[in-house]
Amino acid sequence: MIVALADTARFRTDDCDELVLASLACPICLRTDDVSWELEADGYDPSVECTCGRCEEHWRVYVTQYQALRLGLMAVRPL
Ligand SMILES: [Zn+2]
Repeated sequence: MIVALADTARFRTDDCDELVLASLACPICLRTDDVSWELEADGYDPSVECTCGRCEEHWRVYVTQYQALRLGLMAVRPL
């Protein structure tokens, strides 16, 4: 298995919400319940800006166009 050094989302577009959110987990505490995220779907490189309220950590997860669509379906709901 190759370990990805870049933060690239690894969920599939037909994964359930829990798996999709797990790909946005905080790199410090590995939790998702305090993570707020904002999809930035514009441009050639869609990405998700994530913030962990627990660690006050910010990070960015790059997603494919399809993953961006998948996240867009969830964006109306708070975590
Ligand atoms: Zn955290």
